[in-house]
Amino acid sequence: MRFLPMLKKTKEFPCTECGACCAKVTGPPAVVFEETGWILPNGACKNYDPATKQCMIYEKRPPICRVDEIRPPSMTRPRWHAYVETCCDFSHDMVYGLPRERKCKCPH
Ligand code: SF4
Ligand code: SF4
Repeated sequence: MRFLPMLKKTKEFPCTECGACCAKVTGPPAVVFEETGWILPNGACKNYDPATKQCMIYEKRPPICRVDEIRPPSMTRPRWHAYVETCCDFSHDMVYGLPRERKCKCPH
């Protein structure tokens, strides 16, 4: 779910471009994509390119894939990002069987 170049001081979610959330779609995106038929038999989104770990429709990805745009108004940005980070850690562990690197672009 590529969002931003890493290690920039930014208010946007610090995605490490691990690709895990697209390689194995879970949670709310899975519910949405079941409707659209976007989930492949291996659990990946059909728009995910495993060779590059990038979204092939990045500029036109649906709202559910836009982390900063779906932040609940009741949550501050830091709290929302902390929550999403835990989801990313879970996805990364499920896909790679390794802890997710949080400080730099994903090396896995
Ligand atoms: S799991 Fe998180 S860090 Fe990895 S690509 Fe998706 S949003 Fe980015
Ligand atoms: S549409 Fe793109 S960003 Fe969303 S799950 Fe699929 S590959 Fe990932």
